[in-house]
Amino acid sequence: MVHKITLIPGDGIGYEVSLAARRCIEATGVNIEWENVLAGSDALDKTGELLPQSALDSIKKNKVALKGPITTPIGTGFRSVNVAIRQALDLYACLRPAKSYLGVNSRFKDIDLVIVRENSEDLYAGIEFEEGKPETKNLIAQIQKDTKRLIRRDSGISIKPISKFASERIVKFAFEYALKNKRKKVTCVHKANIMKFTDGLFLKVAREVAQKYAGKIIFEEAIVDNMCMQLVQKPHNYDVLVLPNLYGDIISDLCAGLIGGLGIAPGANIGAELAVFEAVHGSAPKYKGKNRVNPTAMILSGALMLRYINEEKAADSLEEAVKQVIAEGKSVTYDLKADPLDPGAVGTAQMADAIIDKLKRI
Ligand code: NAD
Repeated sequence: MVHKITLIPGDGIGYEVSLAARRCIEATGVNIEWENVLAGSDALDKTGELLPQSALDSIKKNKVALKGPITTPIGTGFRSVNVAIRQALDLYACLRPAKSYLGVNSRFKDIDLVIVRENSEDLYAGIEFEEGKPETKNLIAQIQKDTKRLIRRDSGISIKPISKFASERIVKFAFEYALKNKRKKVTCVHKANIMKFTDGLFLKVAREVAQKYAGKIIFEEAIVDNMCMQLVQKPHNYDVLVLPNLYGDIISDLCAGLIGGLGIAPGANIGAELAVFEAVHGSAPKYKGKNRVNPTAMILSGALMLRYINEEKAADSLEEAVKQVIAEGKSVTYDLKADPLDPGAVGTAQMADAIIDKLKRI
């Protein structure tokens, strides 16, 4: 069977890591017809748009995409191409497994966490009111009238919407993921003690959904600040975490730190019918074109993609090949060496070559 998949190389280190991932995915033997589309700075140069409609149309048509990181230009007024793609396609679930690999320098061993981040609302909805604008002044006046609470006149305001609908579907997603993947526990992370009508709603809905899985999956709750400390002290106490958008973003990077860095942290953005697979890391512009960064996060995002298109065997082989190359510690990039200045570190393309070589023997 031929799978048609959209490939967005991204920008910055995007080209290097996407090419590495593409080569490794193809080496599993799965038959893929890639449709290359531009988004990010190259798209801006060629089409005048950071996110051309053609990129979104290609994902809608093919239903699955592999995407490299994209730089968020500062000062253009555009928040983020990455967030825009997730919102335009309603990719409501951000799935980010954080798993230890033998051979990676890290303070912890045997971490196996899965972050399920709500992707469509919260402070990332992008509804903001700039300081000094007439609409901001109107909003401040209205809030003062309705709540008798004072907001300073020189404030900027970001809106944090959290709905029952979006909370229910993300918590259900987390529990269904836990069931399907034989996980034991889902922890709902929140700040409901302070934000009673947003995080409070998220937590209330999570409790309701959890009841339907009682006896099958354990349900726990944790306040986000405490969760940060618990994850650093006792990460093995946790399994699947479900969080609103902002906390999910922050905790994802914390968990990437637990397993040894962004170079090995994969991710997926999943909606009802479409999915876009991408690493947790960004475009690391200072490394662009240097053949230096670790392609693993992008390759493992490719493994998640293979599972999503029901190519389980290929996904297992790809993960196994990555695992073996990292455990051997020879053909790995600088970030996986004990000393980042180790002259034995290989480049992005060479690490991909080693993984492809391993795949031939699995
Ligand atoms: P970043 O993730 O790009 O890089 C931070 C640092 O992490 C790098 O300097 C590097 O030391 C390390 N790193 C990242 N990827 C690595 C890899 N594959 N191998 C080895 N080390 C790696 O974060 P940033 O510098 O904050 O962001 C750069 C740009 O990327 C910004 O414009 C940001 O908005 C964007 N961004 C995009 C995405 C996305 O496309 N989904 C995600 C996060 C950030």
